[in-house]
Amino acid sequence: MESMAISPEEYTEHDQRIWDEELEEFVPSRIFDAHIHLFDRSHVGPEHPCGWLNSDLATIRAWAERLYPGREVHFLVLGTPVYGIDVQQHAQWQIEQVRQDPLSRVNRLVTPACTCEEILCDVQQAGVIGLKPYRIFSQTGDIAECRIQEFFTDAQLSLADEHGLWVTMHLSRFNGAADEENLRDLEEYTLRRYPGIKWILAHCARSFTYWPIRQAIERLRELPNIWYDVSAVTDVRPLITLFSQEDTRRILFGSDGVDATYFHGQYAALGRAWQALDVSQHRLSFPHCDGRPILAIYEQLLSMKHAAEIVGLSKEAISEIFWGNAVKALEIEIA
Ligand SMILES: [Zn+2]
Repeated sequence: MESMAISPEEYTEHDQRIWDEELEEFVPSRIFDAHIHLFDRSHVGPEHPCGWLNSDLATIRAWAERLYPGREVHFLVLGTPVYGIDVQQHAQWQIEQVRQDPLSRVNRLVTPACTCEEILCDVQQAGVIGLKPYRIFSQTGDIAECRIQEFFTDAQLSLADEHGLWVTMHLSRFNGAADEENLRDLEEYTLRRYPGIKWILAHCARSFTYWPIRQAIERLRELPNIWYDVSAVTDVRPLITLFSQEDTRRILFGSDGVDATYFHGQYAALGRAWQALDVSQHRLSFPHCDGRPILAIYEQLLSMKHAAEIVGLSKEAISEIFWGNAVKALEIEIA
C-alpha cells in the first residue's frame, strides 16, 4: 500500500481558503485529537513492504500547527497496525515520544501474539492508558469478516477489563456497527463479561456511510462504557445520526492523521459502500470550478460543522467534542 499522506508543505491555497472561510470560527481553541498514529519504519522488518510514512511527535505537532493554527493540541496516540512490526519496540518508542507531552496519551498496539506479561509491563508505564487491537492480526486469517475476539484474545480482554483499560476498536466485518455479531459481542462485553473496559468505537463505530450507525445507534446508546471517535468520517450523514441520537458527551474528535486523512480527497460514500478517494491517484479534472480538492481532514471538519448546524449543537457541546469530553473521560490533569 502506498501512503496517501502528504507533508505540511503540500498544503494548498484551497486548503487555506477552507480554513479561513469555514473552519477558523468553527474549530475551538483547544483540541484533543483522540485518534492519531505515530510510526517509524525501522520497527518493521525489510521483508514487509509498507506504505506508512515516518511520523514522530514533532511531525504531528508540525501538522497540527499547519492544520489548526494557533490551537492548543494534544493527542491520544494509537499503535500503528502494520504486518511484521516489532510490537514491543514500536510500543516503547511511542511511549517515549508521547512522554515529551504530559497531556498526551498512548493506546498500545496489541496483536494475539502479545503475552499478558508484555502488555501489562507497558500499560503500567506513565502515559499508557489502553490498547489498540486491529483486525489485520485476526487469528482466522480473515481480516474483513473477523469478530473481536479473533484479533483481541479472551486473555487480553480479561486483562483490559481487570485494569480498566481503554480500547480503541475499529470494528471489522462488512456491516461494521450494524453487524449482528459485533453488536452482540459489544453487548456481552460491556454489560456482562468485561464491564471494566472503556471502548472508543473508531470512525463513528466504523460508519463511513449513513447506514451502519443508523442501524446500530438505538442499541449502542444503551450500552455503558462506549465512546466514539469521528476520525476519517467525511460524509455528513453518519455525523448527523451520531450528534442527534447519542449523548454528545460520548463523542470525541480524532483525525486519524497522518496517513489516513492528511491527503487531498475524502472517504467517499457510495450507497452503502465507501472507499478512500485520493485525488492524486486519479486523473480527475475540474473544468467547472475554481476550487480544488482539499485535505480529507478538512472534509471531515466541514462535515462536523454542517452536522452540528443541522442538529443545532451548542458551541459548548462542540467545544466538548473537541476537548472537554476526552479530557474528562481520559482523566487528563490540566495544570
Ligand atoms: Zn487509525
